[in-house]
Amino acid sequence: MMKDIATPVRTQEILKKYGFSFKKSLGQNFLIDPNILRNIVSHAELTKDSAAVEIGPGIGALTEHLARAAGKVVSFEIDQRLLPVLEDTLSPYDNVQIIHSDILEADTKTIFAEQLADFEDIMVVANLPYYVTTPILLKLLHDRLPIRGMVVMMQKEVADRITAKPGTKEYGSLSIAIQYYMDAEVAMTVPKTVFMPPPNVDSAVIKLTRRNEPAVLVKDEDFLFLVSRGSFVQRRKTILNNLQTSLPEGKARKEEILKALEDTGIEPSRRGETLSIQEFGALADALHETFY
Ligand code: SAM
Repeated sequence: MMKDIATPVRTQEILKKYGFSFKKSLGQNFLIDPNILRNIVSHAELTKDSAAVEIGPGIGALTEHLARAAGKVVSFEIDQRLLPVLEDTLSPYDNVQIIHSDILEADTKTIFAEQLADFEDIMVVANLPYYVTTPILLKLLHDRLPIRGMVVMMQKEVADRITAKPGTKEYGSLSIAIQYYMDAEVAMTVPKTVFMPPPNVDSAVIKLTRRNEPAVLVKDEDFLFLVSRGSFVQRRKTILNNLQTSLPEGKARKEEILKALEDTGIEPSRRGETLSIQEFGALADALHETFY
């Protein structure tokens, strides 16, 4: 077997061979520590019957570990300059499909149907480009792909917000948007020294596991997210105040909002950060009757 791509020496060799220069604007911080990669992949619990979907292979550091552990890897890379590099570095593996595309523009449904129809077990595993972490996660969730979960590296601050529990300062509409579909936990924190170049921020890997059912059953999911986003517009304000500002014609409908809060047993003086997803679900359903 060839030397791992993700050693500092081999990474330098590859970068030099192709005269590759990092683009900060594409979040290019490559992993140069095989131990971290093994650890990430072990959290994904892949077998040869699984497929892995990666966003941003870079020069293939994580991709090759996925290729060894999974039956197939489909990996989306936006940067055309990396295509010849990947063709070279991943040539020992015949189970990797690189797709040259911005993941945010990709027709993931069709690609899954064409590339991954044979796999019942599909995991998203990636060292994400940090500048688009949230849009990527929300797109993959909203595309309703048949995945078991995700093991993804991101800025630690975002990882803390995604996995936050009610009553903490990190808890907000992003926690709800993700935890609605997925159980979320921080799998590990990662030092800056394992990247080339080192990022300016701390990093963490989170593990998301799809729930059998959403965290709460509601009449209208989009409305749930509207209510939860609206409840955090100004974190220091009460839920009543925030809903009056954020819901359509909220100011004029104070009485209706108060009634929905009363019907669901939520004190109007509480702040959004104290409400569980279940409470947001009940509130959204009660408000739905009034607002639709
Ligand atoms: N997986 C590699 C590693 O761990 O060494 C590289 C990770 S690097 C943090 C992020 C990668 O995502 C880069 O290769 C970058 O070019 C790519 N990328 C950035 N934005 C993207 C997008 N919108 N769609 C697909 N790939 C993207």
